[in-house]
Amino acid sequence: MLRQNTNHSECGYVLSITPYRETDGMVQFLGETSGLIRLVLPAYYKPKSKQGNLGLEFTYVRYRFNPQENRLNRIIGGDILNNYKELRSNMSWLLDMSLIREVLVRTYSGENEKWVYDAFHKFMQESDSRYQLVLFLVNTIERHGFNPDVSGCVVCGSPLINEFSVRQGGFLCNRHSHRQDSKYLLMMMKGLFSKSDVSSYAAEGKIDAVVERLLQYIEFYFDIRLKTWELIKEIGEYEV
Ligand SMILES: [Zn+2]
Repeated sequence: MLRQNTNHSECGYVLSITPYRETDGMVQFLGETSGLIRLVLPAYYKPKSKQGNLGLEFTYVRYRFNPQENRLNRIIGGDILNNYKELRSNMSWLLDMSLIREVLVRTYSGENEKWVYDAFHKFMQESDSRYQLVLFLVNTIERHGFNPDVSGCVVCGSPLINEFSVRQGGFLCNRHSHRQDSKYLLMMMKGLFSKSDVSSYAAEGKIDAVVERLLQYIEFYFDIRLKTWELIKEIGEYEV
């Protein structure tokens, strides 16, 4: 049975919306059971559209649609469950949201990706915390099997580590490293990838260097360029 006539309703997040055909919107939706899909929001760009804010980026919604395989589904209606109104005027929040959206969309593989929704959902409970962003990035790296080796120097095993190397996939000691990373960065990388709770060290500002290194790691192993990150660096939003 490819066709289902009963209305399906599903909760999830609007990641983006772009114009489609005359006045429709194309929504990139991260649904609780559907995962990352595209849906058409009819007449969204019409003046006096009745769709209200159902297409507003970075909102938590419940959509109704008739799921049919191998075709674009149209949203029939829905409700806004959380529009994050109090955060929406916060430039830093918007940039972090754009960043996490880009990482999510670019690394999404479509298989066994239920964790993506769960991780994003968890992130949205405290989306103004940069530590939650860090946890999402770590999760993305681990779920794709790109875990760095944080047990010691990846070349000789020495515990006297000096650098977290993206290219080498882990720590390097003072004999094998080419740079000196801060003690803070080394400690955070060790903790994050050995499942220790380092949340109490996630000091404002200091953690930005950790975000940067994790993004460089993701860019290298997924072979992608994150445009949002380049923009954020230009604006000087992060303390790196
Ligand atoms: Zn070494």
